[in-house]
Amino acid sequence: MQNILELKNIGYSYHNLHGETKALQDISFGVREGEFIAIVGPSGCGKSTLLSIIAGLLSPEEGTIAVNNPDGSLHYPKIGYMLQRDHLFEWRTVYRNVTLGLELNHKMTPERLEAVDRLLKDYGLDKFKDKRPDELSGGMKQRAALIRTLALEPQLLLLDEPFSALDYQTRLFVSADICRLIRAAGKTMIIITHDLSEAVSLADRIIILSGRPAVVKRQVDVHLTLADDSPLAARNAPEFQQYFNMLWEELTHEN
Ligand code: ADP
Repeated sequence: MQNILELKNIGYSYHNLHGETKALQDISFGVREGEFIAIVGPSGCGKSTLLSIIAGLLSPEEGTIAVNNPDGSLHYPKIGYMLQRDHLFEWRTVYRNVTLGLELNHKMTPERLEAVDRLLKDYGLDKFKDKRPDELSGGMKQRAALIRTLALEPQLLLLDEPFSALDYQTRLFVSADICRLIRAAGKTMIIITHDLSEAVSLADRIIILSGRPAVVKRQVDVHLTLADDSPLAARNAPEFQQYFNMLWEELTHEN
């Protein structure tokens, strides 16, 4: 499959009064349509910076991002961004939260609102649409945040530690659940996580970054034999531990 995005030799430094912090150096990789990529690396190495560059929130100081859509067009993929916390607003109902992106972008068309209603139904939230976010469980809040992101019909989803505010057990189920929904929607996804098990269980490919300034240390394709489609199936796959150990080795042995 063709790469829809191609990062070439990306470099980025932060500049402030105390000097320069080089965050990224010579980062190159491609992203194929429909692919799930996990980015792992030591804390502070530059993962969020890289995601912000892909999102277009920061411009790379060095290097380029090339776009090759399957239809030959060169427009940048529409991007949805999900952050560590769900960032739902308590003073708005669930419905007014999930339609917030549409409202801000002046896209409250009947078709888009119908699509939101379908997602609310599919994700089991239609009965909660008039509730406030604090009446929802952690998993339901993440689902609401996902609907808000999907309402704008992004092609590429960028997730920055989206499950880190959840307790461990909820996290296992919610991460598998959200990724199943994103796959079903046919989207491409790049997720940052510090949880190596999460990376192995969710991703088709894992990009391992070095300590700052981050360079790509290694890229690993993940192939798991899944017994069923339960949230725990990937973690019980016979290959799981090998991938986990390999990531652990890469991250604990710098250089
Ligand atoms: P990660 O997501 O891997 O934890 P970040 O991309 O957030 O890493 O940050 C990479 C490095 O850049 C860190 O050392 C961080 O302190 C520094 N950094 C991040 N944002 C800024 C900023 N706005 N100004 C200066 N330095 C920053």
